[in-house]
Amino acid sequence: MPKRIAIVEDEAELASLIEYNLTRHGYQTQILRGGKGTLEELERARPDLIVLDVMLPDVDGFQLCREIRQSQAMARTPVLFLTARGDEVDRVLGLEIGGDDYMTKPFSPRELVARVKAHLRREQMDTAPAVAAIGPFRLDANGRRIFLGERELTLTSTEFNLLEFFLTHPGRAYSRDQLLDAVWGQQHYVTPRTVDVHVRRLREQMETTPEDPHYLTTVRGFGYRFEDNA
Ligand code: CA
Repeated sequence: MPKRIAIVEDEAELASLIEYNLTRHGYQTQILRGGKGTLEELERARPDLIVLDVMLPDVDGFQLCREIRQSQAMARTPVLFLTARGDEVDRVLGLEIGGDDYMTKPFSPRELVARVKAHLRREQMDTAPAVAAIGPFRLDANGRRIFLGERELTLTSTEFNLLEFFLTHPGRAYSRDQLLDAVWGQQHYVTPRTVDVHVRRLREQMETTPEDPHYLTTVRGFGYRFEDNA
């Protein structure tokens, strides 16, 4: 089954260029022009990944991404933003908006295809056992779901990757750079601050008092540590 990519972009020429490059690499694509009703169109299409422009008519890409994250059907679908220079990248990748990746226009189509490939490969990895219990957490690696007790955590694709890493490496302290290497891999444009933003968002999901964390603790002057027996 070819993977399906939704391209949400109102500039027809750019949308066609992206489509051309993705279809050449075996992806199935659908171009959406943005505007009202885009969320519903995406929910019907159920793409495996969304390429999302920021500047769109009616509803901008940031708002649309927030809605995607709240949608049952698509909360975990990777979102790759197309941003203009000067857009606030931390916001894009952060807890406020929940994007998984971004590219600044103008970008090379080859690079875009590489990023799409990397995100979809990450989605597919199912090396871990089906469901593992880690302290009060349950990790369903194949389903890409994490439960705390009976409650399923609401995680973006990147948040899942980060928490999965912590759950499978308990008791050890990791620096921000080590976490970037382990979770974000070759995406060198992310900064150590990106880690902080995602940790903050994870704490809101998994801690009773996020400002005084129990499981995901700060290791002062170094990074973070996950404790499964907290
Ligand atoms: Ca646009």
